[in-house]
Amino acid sequence: ASDAPLEERTEGRGTADRGFDPADRLAERERRGLRRDLTPVADVAARSPIADDPGADEPVFDGPEQVIFAANDYLGLADDERVQRAAAETAREVGTGAGASRLVTGDTPAHRALERDLAAVKNAQRALAFSSGYATNVGVISALSPDVVFSDELNHASIVDGCRQAGAETVVYDHCDPSDLQARMDERARATRAGTDESWLVLTDSVFSMDGDVAPLETICDVVESFGAWLMVDEAHATGLYEGGGGIVQREGLSDRVHVQMGTLSKALGSQGGYVAGSESLIEHLLNAARSFVFSTGLAPPAAGAAREALRIAREDDAHRERLWENVARLRDGLDAAGYEVWGETQILPVVVGDRKDAMALDDRLREHDVVAPGIRPPTVPEGTSRIRVAPMATHTEDEIDRCLAAFREAGRELDLV
Ligand code: PMP
Repeated sequence: ASDAPLEERTEGRGTADRGFDPADRLAERERRGLRRDLTPVADVAARSPIADDPGADEPVFDGPEQVIFAANDYLGLADDERVQRAAAETAREVGTGAGASRLVTGDTPAHRALERDLAAVKNAQRALAFSSGYATNVGVISALSPDVVFSDELNHASIVDGCRQAGAETVVYDHCDPSDLQARMDERARATRAGTDESWLVLTDSVFSMDGDVAPLETICDVVESFGAWLMVDEAHATGLYEGGGGIVQREGLSDRVHVQMGTLSKALGSQGGYVAGSESLIEHLLNAARSFVFSTGLAPPAAGAAREALRIAREDDAHRERLWENVARLRDGLDAAGYEVWGETQILPVVVGDRKDAMALDDRLREHDVVAPGIRPPTVPEGTSRIRVAPMATHTEDEIDRCLAAFREAGRELDLV
């Protein structure tokens, strides 16, 4: 048939254009003010070079020396010599890639060691590492396959996508509001025929990435338990930041009341990847049923090695955490004093300016002062709450914090915001 002339081969198929026009879609995005760009960063100030690497002081990108207040590497461990060495050693000993899915030939000692340590920090029987936090949420929620999920309205996109992939009926409750959660669970219980056993999963971030606030986990546990449901907590922005290297679940002493703990290796642990921790049977089920685990190459061993060393530092060494919280306090006090409205109660400091144009103008002005902190606008955050998301790190010096504050003061005056 392939030898036949084109007209014969395509007869009856019409002349419709069934392809895609990405440029057109991009233009539409541009028109709606939603187009985004990749911006290379020149971040030399925050780098602590490996001693025997003569090139380490060279900037990776050309450009002015900028100080970045937007990274999620909160403890600065991505630049820590010990973590970098652990990555390099694991690469040498185990390889740069896992080579296959963990279930085929990709299950290396580097993964096992990391998972043992994660389970210990999370006070769980067992843990499982995924190739990203995103893949963890999507894989875990769909593998649990709940009939109904109750999800905080500000939960991360990967939770939302997990609920979609699970095909679960999703009930969204008001942000950080256990009484609204309870009302919705009551309503659902009344609407469900007696004798029907539905599986219910309640989902919440512990620290919310754009508001920097903390879910009232203990009260949520009370509500969840009163309905006999399960609770899954996303500790992406908390893992490693509290005593013993744990998250908010550990800080609040709730390890044995949270059925599923997940988080990422790519924020405070300075590496890449995600994890889930829970009971032996939960993990055994997930390694069989979470499609993003089963059908994806195992986490890169150097990432596992780096995360394990970072976790060790977070567990044993309070110095990084203390520096981080000192920097958070200095920055928050300075922003308050400058007349800004600062939300949040964690290391994430949303500086709320309201109007989206003001937020983007402030973002630009800060860059002119060599301070990088991104403007966040709708649809990522609700209309009228556009903001700059400021995230200090343990490795920022006092001088860098003060430079950031000076930039905010000057830019705010220039734009008439304070
Ligand atoms: N959950 C939350 C709350 C997050 O903020 C993120 C990352 N932005 C993720 C999950 C996904 O983690 P990762 O970046 O490792 O894919």
